[in-house]
Amino acid sequence: MLGGWKGGERMVKVKIPESHPRRESLLYRDKIVEGLDEGIVSKEGLIAHGRGEAFDYLLGEKTVEEALDAEKAGVAAMLLGRSSAISVNGNTAALAPEKLIELSELLDAPLEVNLFYKSEERVERIIAHLKKHGASRVLGRKGDAKLPIESERAKVDSDGIYRADVVLVALEDGDRTEALEKMGKSVVAIDLNPLSRTAQKAAISIIDELSRALDNMIDMARFMRDLSADELNSVLESYDNDRILKSTLEKIAKGLMMLGLESR
Ligand code: ATP
Ligand code: MG
Repeated sequence: MLGGWKGGERMVKVKIPESHPRRESLLYRDKIVEGLDEGIVSKEGLIAHGRGEAFDYLLGEKTVEEALDAEKAGVAAMLLGRSSAISVNGNTAALAPEKLIELSELLDAPLEVNLFYKSEERVERIIAHLKKHGASRVLGRKGDAKLPIESERAKVDSDGIYRADVVLVALEDGDRTEALEKMGKSVVAIDLNPLSRTAQKAAISIIDELSRALDNMIDMARFMRDLSADELNSVLESYDNDRILKSTLEKIAKGLMMLGLESR
Protein backbone atom coordinates (compact mmCIF):
# COMPACT_ATOMS: atom_id res chain seq x y z
CA MET A 1 0.00 0.00 0.00
CA LEU A 2 1.23 3.45 -0.77
CA GLY A 3 0.64 6.67 1.08
CA GLY A 4 -1.32 9.54 -0.42
CA TRP A 5 -1.23 13.13 0.75
CA LYS A 6 -3.86 15.84 0.86
CA GLY A 7 -3.49 19.26 2.41
CA GLY A 8 -0.21 18.24 4.06
CA GLU A 9 -1.69 15.23 5.79
CA ARG A 10 -1.57 11.60 4.88
CA MET A 11 -5.13 10.77 3.85
CA VAL A 12 -5.27 7.45 2.05
CA LYS A 13 -3.34 4.28 1.50
CA VAL A 14 -3.04 3.57 -2.22
CA LYS A 15 -2.58 -0.04 -3.25
CA ILE A 16 0.45 -0.53 -5.41
CA PRO A 17 -0.15 -3.09 -8.18
CA GLU A 18 1.90 -6.31 -8.06
CA SER A 19 2.90 -5.72 -11.67
CA HIS A 20 4.25 -2.20 -11.16
CA PRO A 21 7.81 -2.09 -12.58
CA ARG A 22 9.06 0.02 -9.67
CA ARG A 23 7.07 -1.84 -7.02
CA GLU A 24 10.01 -2.56 -4.68
CA SER A 25 11.27 0.97 -4.90
CA LEU A 26 7.82 2.41 -4.15
CA LEU A 27 7.38 0.08 -1.18
CA TYR A 28 10.72 1.23 0.28
CA ARG A 29 9.67 4.82 -0.28
CA ASP A 30 6.48 4.12 1.62
CA LYS A 31 8.40 2.63 4.53
CA ILE A 32 10.50 5.78 4.73
CA VAL A 33 7.39 8.01 4.74
CA GLU A 34 5.80 5.79 7.39
CA GLY A 35 9.00 6.12 9.42
CA LEU A 36 8.71 9.89 9.15
CA ASP A 37 5.09 9.75 10.37
CA GLU A 38 6.21 7.62 13.33
CA GLY A 39 9.05 9.99 14.28
CA ILE A 40 11.75 7.48 13.36
CA VAL A 41 13.01 9.06 10.13
CA SER A 42 14.14 12.70 10.01
CA LYS A 43 13.03 15.04 7.23
CA GLU A 44 16.63 15.08 6.04
CA GLY A 45 16.38 11.29 5.85
CA LEU A 46 13.84 11.65 3.03
CA ILE A 47 16.40 13.52 0.98
CA ALA A 48 19.14 10.99 1.71
CA HIS A 49 16.76 8.25 0.55
CA GLY A 50 16.16 10.09 -2.71
CA ARG A 51 19.88 10.28 -3.37
CA GLY A 52 20.08 6.54 -2.82
CA GLU A 53 17.17 5.89 -5.21
CA ALA A 54 18.93 7.81 -7.95
CA PHE A 55 22.06 5.69 -7.67
CA ASP A 56 20.04 2.50 -7.47
CA TYR A 57 18.31 3.50 -10.71
CA LEU A 58 21.72 3.84 -12.35
CA LEU A 59 22.72 0.39 -11.13
CA GLY A 60 19.55 -1.18 -12.57
CA GLU A 61 18.02 -1.68 -9.08
CA LYS A 62 19.87 -4.95 -8.67
CA THR A 63 22.86 -6.27 -6.77
CA VAL A 64 25.90 -6.08 -9.02
CA GLU A 65 28.70 -8.67 -8.85
CA GLU A 66 31.03 -6.17 -7.18
CA ALA A 67 28.51 -5.70 -4.36
CA LEU A 68 28.31 -9.45 -3.79
CA ASP A 69 32.11 -9.55 -3.38
CA ALA A 70 31.97 -6.64 -0.93
CA GLU A 71 29.12 -8.23 1.02
CA LYS A 72 31.10 -11.45 1.37
CA ALA A 73 34.21 -9.54 2.49
CA GLY A 74 32.07 -7.53 4.93
CA VAL A 75 30.69 -10.66 6.54
CA ALA A 76 34.20 -12.16 6.73
CA ALA A 77 35.56 -9.01 8.40
CA MET A 78 32.73 -8.95 10.94
CA LEU A 79 33.17 -12.63 11.78
CA LEU A 80 36.93 -12.21 12.15
CA GLY A 81 36.68 -9.04 14.23
CA ARG A 82 37.45 -9.24 17.93
CA SER A 83 34.21 -7.37 18.42
CA SER A 84 31.89 -5.82 15.86
CA ALA A 85 28.86 -3.53 15.96
CA ILE A 86 26.08 -2.43 13.61
CA SER A 87 25.26 1.27 13.59
CA VAL A 88 21.55 2.04 13.07
CA ASN A 89 19.96 5.32 12.01
CA GLY A 90 16.36 6.34 11.30
CA ASN A 91 16.33 5.29 7.64
CA THR A 92 17.87 1.87 8.26
CA ALA A 93 15.53 1.17 11.18
CA ALA A 94 12.50 2.13 9.09
CA LEU A 95 13.56 0.21 5.98
CA ALA A 96 14.80 -3.08 7.36
CA PRO A 97 14.36 -3.65 11.11
CA GLU A 98 14.04 -7.45 10.95
CA LYS A 99 17.00 -7.85 8.63
CA LEU A 100 19.21 -5.72 10.89
CA ILE A 101 18.20 -7.82 13.88
CA GLU A 102 18.83 -11.10 12.08
CA LEU A 103 22.27 -10.05 10.87
CA SER A 104 23.14 -8.73 14.31
CA GLU A 105 22.27 -12.11 15.85
CA LEU A 106 24.11 -14.14 13.21
CA LEU A 107 27.27 -12.05 13.52
CA ASP A 108 27.03 -11.47 17.26
CA ALA A 109 27.29 -7.73 16.58
CA PRO A 110 25.12 -5.46 18.74
CA LEU A 111 22.81 -2.89 17.15
CA GLU A 112 23.57 0.66 18.26
CA VAL A 113 21.44 3.69 17.43
CA ASN A 114 23.59 6.62 16.33
CA LEU A 115 22.01 9.70 14.76
CA PHE A 116 23.28 12.78 12.99
CA TYR A 117 20.03 14.70 13.63
CA LYS A 118 19.84 13.47 17.18
CA SER A 119 17.14 13.88 19.79
CA GLU A 120 16.60 11.68 22.84
CA GLU A 121 13.05 11.15 21.68
CA ARG A 122 14.04 9.85 18.26
CA VAL A 123 16.65 7.53 19.80
CA GLU A 124 13.94 6.10 22.10
CA ARG A 125 11.49 5.70 19.22
CA ILE A 126 14.04 3.84 17.12
CA ILE A 127 14.95 1.55 20.03
CA ALA A 128 11.25 0.86 20.66
CA HIS A 129 10.70 0.19 16.93
CA LEU A 130 13.57 -2.33 16.83
CA LYS A 131 12.33 -4.01 20.00
CA LYS A 132 8.83 -4.24 18.54
CA HIS A 133 10.38 -6.09 15.61
CA GLY A 134 12.12 -8.57 17.92
CA ALA A 135 15.43 -7.03 19.02
CA SER A 136 16.38 -8.18 22.51
CA ARG A 137 19.03 -5.52 23.10
CA VAL A 138 19.69 -2.20 21.39
CA LEU A 139 22.54 0.12 22.40
CA GLY A 140 22.79 3.88 21.88
CA ARG A 141 21.30 5.34 25.06
CA LYS A 142 24.42 5.63 27.16
CA GLY A 143 26.71 7.69 24.95
CA ASP A 144 29.48 7.25 27.55
CA ALA A 145 32.34 7.28 25.01
CA LYS A 146 33.36 9.77 22.35
CA LEU A 147 34.54 9.60 18.75
CA PRO A 148 36.84 12.38 17.48
CA ILE A 149 34.17 14.30 15.52
CA GLU A 150 32.19 17.47 16.15
CA SER A 151 28.59 16.32 15.59
CA GLU A 152 26.12 14.66 17.95
CA ARG A 153 27.23 11.41 16.40
CA ALA A 154 30.46 11.60 18.45
CA LYS A 155 28.70 10.08 21.46
CA VAL A 156 28.74 6.29 21.34
CA ASP A 157 28.40 3.44 23.81
CA SER A 158 31.59 2.06 25.33
CA ASP A 159 30.38 -1.52 24.93
CA GLY A 160 29.18 -1.07 21.33
CA ILE A 161 30.70 1.03 18.55
CA TYR A 162 33.52 2.35 20.76
CA ARG A 163 34.79 -1.10 21.63
CA ALA A 164 34.26 -2.64 18.20
CA ASP A 165 37.12 -3.10 15.78
CA VAL A 166 34.74 -3.67 12.85
CA VAL A 167 31.67 -1.44 12.43
CA LEU A 168 28.91 -1.87 9.85
CA VAL A 169 27.42 1.48 8.89
CA ALA A 170 24.70 2.14 6.34
CA LEU A 171 23.33 5.33 4.74
CA GLU A 172 26.01 7.04 6.69
CA ASP A 173 27.66 10.42 6.87
CA GLY A 174 31.24 10.53 5.60
CA ASP A 175 32.61 12.34 8.67
CA ARG A 176 31.97 9.51 11.03
CA THR A 177 33.24 6.85 8.65
CA GLU A 178 36.46 8.81 8.41
CA ALA A 179 36.68 9.18 12.20
CA LEU A 180 36.07 5.47 12.77
CA GLU A 181 38.76 4.53 10.25
CA LYS A 182 41.19 7.02 11.82
CA MET A 183 40.61 5.33 15.19
CA GLY A 184 41.90 2.13 13.59
CA LYS A 185 38.49 0.54 13.19
CA SER A 186 37.53 -1.21 10.00
CA VAL A 187 34.34 0.23 8.47
CA VAL A 188 32.01 -1.88 6.35
CA ALA A 189 29.67 0.58 4.62
CA ILE A 190 26.42 0.00 2.75
CA ASP A 191 25.95 3.03 0.52
CA LEU A 192 24.55 3.22 -3.01
CA ASN A 193 26.74 6.17 -3.96
CA PRO A 194 30.25 4.96 -4.87
CA LEU A 195 31.39 8.60 -4.87
CA SER A 196 30.26 9.45 -1.33
CA ARG A 197 32.96 10.05 1.26
CA THR A 198 31.60 7.08 3.16
CA ALA A 199 32.13 4.72 0.22
CA GLN A 200 35.52 6.27 -0.52
CA LYS A 201 36.77 6.06 3.07
CA ALA A 202 35.39 2.69 4.19
CA ALA A 203 37.59 -0.40 4.20
CA ILE A 204 34.78 -2.36 2.53
CA SER A 205 32.23 -0.44 0.45
CA ILE A 206 29.02 -2.26 -0.38
CA ILE A 207 27.42 -0.37 -3.27
CA ASP A 208 23.98 -1.90 -2.95
CA GLU A 209 20.52 -1.06 -1.68
CA LEU A 210 20.22 -1.64 2.08
CA SER A 211 17.55 -4.38 2.07
CA ARG A 212 19.16 -6.31 -0.76
CA ALA A 213 22.58 -6.02 0.87
CA LEU A 214 21.29 -7.23 4.24
CA ASP A 215 19.46 -10.18 2.65
CA ASN A 216 22.64 -11.26 0.91
CA MET A 217 24.75 -10.80 4.03
CA ILE A 218 22.29 -12.83 6.10
CA ASP A 219 22.50 -15.71 3.60
CA MET A 220 26.27 -15.50 3.55
CA ALA A 221 26.59 -15.25 7.33
CA ARG A 222 24.56 -18.45 7.74
CA PHE A 223 27.21 -20.55 6.06
CA MET A 224 30.31 -18.39 6.62
CA ARG A 225 29.86 -18.72 10.38
CA ASP A 226 31.15 -22.28 10.02
CA LEU A 227 34.28 -21.32 8.07
CA SER A 228 37.68 -21.38 9.78
CA ALA A 229 39.63 -18.19 10.50
CA ASP A 230 42.04 -19.16 7.70
CA GLU A 231 39.19 -19.45 5.21
CA LEU A 232 37.72 -16.12 6.30
CA ASN A 233 41.14 -14.49 6.09
CA SER A 234 41.60 -15.70 2.56
CA VAL A 235 38.26 -14.07 1.59
CA LEU A 236 39.59 -10.78 2.98
CA GLU A 237 43.02 -11.13 1.43
CA SER A 238 41.62 -11.57 -2.05
CA TYR A 239 39.32 -8.55 -1.67
CA ASP A 240 40.34 -5.23 -3.23
CA ASN A 241 38.07 -2.30 -2.33
CA ASP A 242 39.64 0.14 -4.81
CA ARG A 243 39.01 -2.30 -7.64
CA ILE A 244 35.38 -2.75 -6.50
CA LEU A 245 34.75 1.02 -6.41
CA LYS A 246 36.39 1.54 -9.81
CA SER A 247 34.56 -1.32 -11.43
CA THR A 248 31.17 -0.19 -10.03
CA LEU A 249 31.72 3.34 -11.33
CA GLU A 250 32.62 1.93 -14.73
CA LYS A 251 29.43 -0.12 -14.68
CA ILE A 252 27.34 2.99 -13.93
CA ALA A 253 29.12 4.97 -16.66
CA LYS A 254 28.66 2.19 -19.23
CA GLY A 255 24.99 1.85 -18.26
CA LEU A 256 24.50 5.57 -18.83
CA MET A 257 26.13 5.37 -22.24
CA MET A 258 23.84 2.51 -23.23
CA LEU A 259 20.74 4.36 -22.01
CA GLY A 260 21.84 7.45 -23.94
CA LEU A 261 22.17 5.42 -27.13
CA GLU A 262 18.86 3.61 -26.64
CA SER A 263 16.89 6.83 -26.17
CA ARG A 264 18.05 8.34 -29.48
P1 ATP B 1 28.87 11.34 2.50
O1 ATP B 1 28.68 12.17 3.72
O2 ATP B 1 29.33 9.95 2.78
O3 ATP B 1 29.68 11.99 1.40
P2 ATP B 1 26.28 12.13 1.46
O4 ATP B 1 26.47 13.40 2.23
O5 ATP B 1 26.18 12.16 -0.01
O6 ATP B 1 27.41 11.08 1.87
P3 ATP B 1 24.41 11.23 3.38
O7 ATP B 1 23.10 11.88 3.46
O8 ATP B 1 25.47 11.63 4.36
O9 ATP B 1 24.98 11.39 1.92
O10 ATP B 1 24.22 9.63 3.44
C1 ATP B 1 23.24 8.96 2.77
C2 ATP B 1 23.87 7.99 1.78
O11 ATP B 1 23.07 6.82 1.78
C3 ATP B 1 23.90 8.52 0.34
O12 ATP B 1 25.15 8.26 -0.26
C4 ATP B 1 22.80 7.70 -0.38
O13 ATP B 1 23.15 7.43 -1.71
C5 ATP B 1 22.79 6.42 0.45
N1 ATP B 1 21.48 5.72 0.49
C6 ATP B 1 20.25 6.25 0.67
N2 ATP B 1 19.29 5.30 0.71
C7 ATP B 1 19.94 4.11 0.56
C8 ATP B 1 19.51 2.75 0.56
N3 ATP B 1 18.22 2.41 0.69
N4 ATP B 1 20.44 1.79 0.41
C9 ATP B 1 21.76 2.11 0.30
N5 ATP B 1 22.22 3.37 0.30
C10 ATP B 1 21.34 4.37 0.43
MG1 MG C 1 27.18 13.55 4.25
